[in-house]
Amino acid sequence: MMRTRTQVGIVGAGPAGLLLAHLLARRGIESVLIEIRSREYCEARQRAGVLEDGSVSLLRGAGVGDRLDRQGLEHGGIYLQFGGERHHIDFRDLTGGRTVTVYAQTEVVKDLIARRLADRGGDAIRFSVSDTEVAELDSDRPVLRYTDADGTRHEVICDAIAGCDGFHGICRPAIPAGALTVWERDYPYAWLGILADIPPSTDELIYAHHPAGFALHSLRSPTVSRLYLQVDPDERIETWSDERIWAELARRFELPGWTLQQGPVLDKSITPMRSFVSAPMRHGRLFLAGDAAHIVPPTGAKGLNLALADVAVLAPALEALLHGDGEPAASYSDSCLARVWRSTHFSWWMTTMLHRTPGADEMEQQLQLSQLRYVVSSRAAATSLAENYTGFVPLPTGPLSTGPAPTGAPPSGAPPTGAPPVQAERSQ
Ligand SMILES: Cc1cc2nc3c(=O)[nH]c(=O)nc-3n(C[C@H](O)[C@H](O)[C@H](O)COP(=O)(O)OP(=O)(O)OC[C@H]3O[C@@H](n4cnc5c(N)ncnc54)[C@H](O)[C@@H]3O)c2cc1C
Repeated sequence: MMRTRTQVGIVGAGPAGLLLAHLLARRGIESVLIEIRSREYCEARQRAGVLEDGSVSLLRGAGVGDRLDRQGLEHGGIYLQFGGERHHIDFRDLTGGRTVTVYAQTEVVKDLIARRLADRGGDAIRFSVSDTEVAELDSDRPVLRYTDADGTRHEVICDAIAGCDGFHGICRPAIPAGALTVWERDYPYAWLGILADIPPSTDELIYAHHPAGFALHSLRSPTVSRLYLQVDPDERIETWSDERIWAELARRFELPGWTLQQGPVLDKSITPMRSFVSAPMRHGRLFLAGDAAHIVPPTGAKGLNLALADVAVLAPALEALLHGDGEPAASYSDSCLARVWRSTHFSWWMTTMLHRTPGADEMEQQLQLSQLRYVVSSRAAATSLAENYTGFVPLPTGPLSTGPAPTGAPPSGAPPTGAPPVQAERSQ
């Protein structure tokens, strides 16, 4: 067993864990970041692609926005399609200039991985670990254990642990039963998503309501399209040939004078739809962030933004905690949950307005169409959609970095101030 010491142990190198490690490093705080998957897997995993203004500012302010600024596609609205018509919702006009930026989660992850490895060296993210465990959460020296890719078991004594290990991770289940309240809703449909090597057939995202089910035309870049179809949750991807997918997409997006461009399918998968919130987002010295604490259906494009927002709140809270001020850490959960619940409601609202519930009667469709007509004809209703889509609850506006490392903060690899003597890389 190798025993080491750090200030913050971070479980999971998704967007939340990677950004947290970076924000902490800018504050002079050491962390150990572990990830069960390989670097290649993390960088290729197709997920979200829409960043709120606040997320763009956060990444830019954290010094990891260069490629985002060069390659991100700023969008000033979305299209809602229903009843054979396509309507534009103009975010800039409705919200006084706010926008969203299309920049794939894969690219956010690549930028953050590259930055951490450049700043801290080759082992600054421990990829491909296994048997991750967190323990002693009620003490002020919580413990992180894992086995590295070479088979060596590690035990890291921390001041705090951040559970950024997604919905299926080990951190949330490590919290004793009864300490968490959980709210959960599974939807009776899923999304079949494809990544296609073809320029998008649209300048902004199209959300299509159709009697056969919802469809979304999104994009990843000027040359790569991302498209989704509502399917049954027990649908098997093998039964969906590329031809069948394109035919169904063309049917749901059909509009006179407009053509859906088709191209090679690079990736396809089926994602279940779920709303899930667990609270509080802290137990002792374990702090949950991102999908580890909450999941939204992707219709509102909120999951990635919530993950980034959580760690923007968590980084200064951990810094204060490590300097003896526990108040921001005490209010971490409540500050995040206000944003989480707003996004949870908005994502549920968009989802239930646009999807066909299997077995639902004709009334559901009429109610949805009435709601959609209201959104595109009432400025108040359109503004409500626009301000939620672009991000209603602002991100913390405090400094993203305290600049130079606080006095007494350790250099890379050294023990934190006030920590017990390091038993550096001692084998047991
Ligand atoms: C298939 C899919 C499609 C999605 N599409 C969209 C979308 O279109 N729009 C949208 O807004 N959101 C979407 N989301 C949601 C969005 O991608 C997530 O909200 C976002 O990834 C959350 O980031 P995170 O860092 O909290 O979690 P994750 O990205 O899940 O990262 C968690 C990391 O922890 C690692 N991990 C797990 N267990 C352990 C362990 N025991 N030890 C160490 N590491 C561990 C995982 O491998 C992963 O790298 C999608 C999610 C999924 C699953």
